[in-house]
Amino acid sequence: MFISAIFILTQFFFPVNVDKKLSSQLDDSINNVKAYDHNLGTAYNNVQNPKEVFLTFDDGPCINNTRKILKILKDNNVKATFFVVGMKGEENPQILKELSNSGMSIGVHTYSHEYSQMYKNADAYFKDYYACKSVIKKITGRNPIVYVRMPGGSDNLVASKSNLENIKKSLNEKGLKYVDWNVSAGDAEVGKTSVDKIKHNIMTQSKGQRIAVILMHDTYYNNFTVEALPDVIKYLKGEGFIFRTFDDLTPGEENKMVDLKVMNRV
Ligand SMILES: [Zn+2]
Repeated sequence: MFISAIFILTQFFFPVNVDKKLSSQLDDSINNVKAYDHNLGTAYNNVQNPKEVFLTFDDGPCINNTRKILKILKDNNVKATFFVVGMKGEENPQILKELSNSGMSIGVHTYSHEYSQMYKNADAYFKDYYACKSVIKKITGRNPIVYVRMPGGSDNLVASKSNLENIKKSLNEKGLKYVDWNVSAGDAEVGKTSVDKIKHNIMTQSKGQRIAVILMHDTYYNNFTVEALPDVIKYLKGEGFIFRTFDDLTPGEENKMVDLKVMNRV
């Protein structure tokens, strides 16, 4: 009796046709929620997947420019990666220590930067690599990152093709990865590239990139690079890039770099 009464009351308050209407409204709402959720998901992906830039400096540390670079990076609250030369680290230990203590990412470039020696064969390459690694460890107290920047790039024409293949294979077997670049400041040649040209190179080459790995140099003669740096950072920030280093690269970022042929290029 009591149950029947509830049933009748329910039917009174929620007649079947109203129920259907409600149900269809609810479906619409769910679809709207799904559509909304989808849009939100896209927006969320963009937040999760912003444009990223990796500033990288090869060949330092040096007596006159490294601290200037460090100050500019600090003033702009960004971090960068330094692929260092072991011999230069020994010459300027305090500066290398400052880089590391300032949260910059430190990787092996080479100990000697003597192409003719280090690219003779894989053994010579790794002798040079470990000499640089041990300088970094001794001076900073930290191991270098597992990413290396091979002098001249991983497809340089100095080493023979077979030597290069052996070196790259051995690097990977040791859990090391080699990193090139997809944006170059063009500042490798002494005094050849003006401040404006450096800025132009970086602006044009980073356009349209989701991940930009920028090659710059940190040597005593790279004054123009230092001069260009504040505007370069300002430009990249304005373009919506976030600044990353190789210290805490995610597997997803690694995969993207491999796809872009910036890492482990074969
Ligand atoms: Zn170099």
